[in-house]
Amino acid sequence: MESVNPATGERVETYDEHDDGDVEDALAAADDAFQDWREVPIREREKLLANAADVLRENKERYAKLITREMGKPIEQARAEVEKCAWGCEYYSEHASQHLGDEPRASPAGTEVFTSYEPLGTVLAVMPWNYPFWQVFRFAAPYLTAGNTGVLKHASNVPGCAKAIEEVFVEAGYPEDVFQTLLVGSGKVDDILADDRVKAATLTGSGPAGRAVAETAGRHLKKTVLELGGSDPVVVLDDADIDEHIETMAQARYQNTGQSCIAGKRFIVHSDVYDEFLDAFLDEVDGYSVGDPENPETDVGSMASEGLMEELHEQVRESVEAGATVERGGEPLDRAGAFYPPTVLTDVPKGSPADEQELFGPVASVFEVDSEAEAVEKANDTDFGLGASVWTEDRDRGERVARQIEAGCTYVNQLTKSDPRVPFGGIGISGYGRELASDGIREFVNRKTVWIE
Ligand code: NAP
Repeated sequence: MESVNPATGERVETYDEHDDGDVEDALAAADDAFQDWREVPIREREKLLANAADVLRENKERYAKLITREMGKPIEQARAEVEKCAWGCEYYSEHASQHLGDEPRASPAGTEVFTSYEPLGTVLAVMPWNYPFWQVFRFAAPYLTAGNTGVLKHASNVPGCAKAIEEVFVEAGYPEDVFQTLLVGSGKVDDILADDRVKAATLTGSGPAGRAVAETAGRHLKKTVLELGGSDPVVVLDDADIDEHIETMAQARYQNTGQSCIAGKRFIVHSDVYDEFLDAFLDEVDGYSVGDPENPETDVGSMASEGLMEELHEQVRESVEAGATVERGGEPLDRAGAFYPPTVLTDVPKGSPADEQELFGPVASVFEVDSEAEAVEKANDTDFGLGASVWTEDRDRGERVARQIEAGCTYVNQLTKSDPRVPFGGIGISGYGRELASDGIREFVNRKTVWIE
């Protein structure tokens, strides 16, 4: 398995893939480890997770560099990602036992009834490259602390990150095999998921990958959580303070070089402020520094691979052929590496890729609407349902519109983000289940009713 620096096209490192014998050994070891790990008091598991936060911080620079070299994210954003992982670990190290404590239930006099949250066993995690550390810690921090063991099948272009994450848990003092990385391609996922020792699976990635995992899991009656794509609306109402928020709104689209499931992808702007918004948005885009992701001044780095860039460019080309106007960008940069410039499209026709597909890169689609009702209708005119944001100076109006948007979360005057304190996940083709907060840690546990007469 090769990791290639997408900013230069150079090979970073080559790793041996695990063969069927290695997979068998890993699943047996994970199952064995589970028998002891489930008996470790949750307070001990919380302490180990706090150690993992320390290990992440101590090695922040090294991990950030690895992330940037393998998938092209600007280095400052890679550092922030490692910090966020440490925060996620800290959150569950402080709250896991509270989220999983026995929960008393109403019951007849003389009986004691409660729900006990017990681990399931080995959970398979199939993860993407776009936040190669955070996506993994988002599952591992809660699920391991709940007493499960974890097996990670990471995206094939970030094997170095996958190995480094295994190292975090070893250095933090976790018992052997509680968390393991398998370096295998997606073709192996079916067999691993079908194995009796794997009790559940979580996948973050594209729709096709989610459907494939859900089908196999369904056949074997295993619980899944799916975190899939999004085409988040950014609804800018006529009373939005554009001056105040434009930097954040543009960041919602272009951070992580646009490769975020919860990036704001469709900007739906009231006609009263459309011109003001577009001018300000283009100014922001013009101010970005695009280039070497290892330079701390860089705002927009390389995409994760040339193949992904070509797919994105094809979507832009088809949208332009259908009638969209290119306000900025629109062509790959003429230099080595997978560099696509921050791109802005207007006049985006209904049904074109920029209108109805997920554009997983630095391309914003801007739509003009004449009323709040039309804005809500356009925001909901999608099969995706991951996140959304609404921008208005009237908080009550913001809340009203937020309630009308069909998505797993809606932020008012803030960009959509995942935060360990609040549940995260989608509806529709954006997936199902929730990660983070108490909801996340309770996804892969047996909610056992205990009734004592
Ligand atoms: P991807 O191609 O679906 O890959 C994600 C993971 O699934 C990788 O480990 C991949 O392995 C594996 N995979 C691919 N096809 C599979 C199959 N048929 N069966 C089993 N596993 C399979 O997605 P990506 O390009 O890495 O990530 C981008 C997508 O993820 C976007 O759609 C984005 O919106 C979504 N995403 C969602 C969230 C969320 O929280 N909702 C967060 C981040 C990203 P290989 O690498 O070996 O192919």
